[in-house]
Amino acid sequence: MKIYIIGIGLIGGSMALDIKMLYPDATVYGIDSNEKHLQEALVLGVVDAAASMDNLSDADFVILSVPVDVALTVLPKVLDVIGDNSIVFEVGSTKAPICNAVANHPKRRNFIATHPIAGTEFSGPSAAIKGLFEGKTNIICEVERTAFKLQEKALELFKAIGMRIRYMDPKAHDKHIAYVSHLSHISAFMLGKTVINKEKHEQDIFDMAGSGFESTVRLAKSSPAMWTPIFKQNKVQVIETLEEYISNLTQFKDLLIKEDYNAIFEEMESVNRIKEILNGMNVKK
Ligand code: NAP
Repeated sequence: MKIYIIGIGLIGGSMALDIKMLYPDATVYGIDSNEKHLQEALVLGVVDAAASMDNLSDADFVILSVPVDVALTVLPKVLDVIGDNSIVFEVGSTKAPICNAVANHPKRRNFIATHPIAGTEFSGPSAAIKGLFEGKTNIICEVERTAFKLQEKALELFKAIGMRIRYMDPKAHDKHIAYVSHLSHISAFMLGKTVINKEKHEQDIFDMAGSGFESTVRLAKSSPAMWTPIFKQNKVQVIETLEEYISNLTQFKDLLIKEDYNAIFEEMESVNRIKEILNGMNVKK
């Protein structure tokens, strides 16, 4: 089996590690515009060899794991050069723009649109983790537009790396993910900004920061190169979530100004049920 991974960073690299472990006969090739990342991936044994876009004609699988703006231009080029039996999947955090970009491509049936709900705040091949996808959800969009035989090949791979599958319409994906992922990142970035701007002496932040601050602000370490195009592509949905979030923050502030501590208590108590919701999610996995 020949597997080409374009963008050998956190997600592409983690896929490579699992594939190499599960399919010892497979050769995993890395393609990356970042020469340092490509060399790192070779040294760390994340990929077996380096390759280029000219080599894709004999691929069994092509995994596209680049920032979402880059995917819009690279995916059609990949589909232009692959063979009839190759399956290409893309793992970006937005799905409607990528599905639209190849809607009329003659090789559309060789493509499967996915979003593995797994990751960390780190980037590059050194951030790749074995078993990252175990027990996690993979959202697949427009599955009916992928050739049935190729769907089966991809699903077998997703199952082997431990993922459970959820099918979704691309627009619904982008709307829901704006709440649970995109808004969380903006809120972490702006929490980090608020604290950095206020605390002129950084040492004070480190001395007083407990695990609460650290875990809440964790996502603010994420890569701006990855997140700017996500916010650009999902702008309308993200603005909607921000309006709701800002309204909740303003309401909380108003309660504090009015010294309505009963309402503040009730507000927090009603949100406490997030515990049950998250526990339920973990049980399902
Ligand atoms: P990453 O660690 O930054 O890896 C992406 C790699 O692609 C980098 O080495 C990057 O190089 C390279 N690249 C950029 N443009 C390229 C091009 N034209 N051709 C070939 N390689 C190129 O990013 P990641 O976290 O793995 O994210 C990859 C994709 O997965 C994104 O679409 C993201 O939305 C999605 N995703 C991420 C997560 C997460 O938690 N991180 C979770 C689910 C899905 P440079 O560093 O030089 O740009």
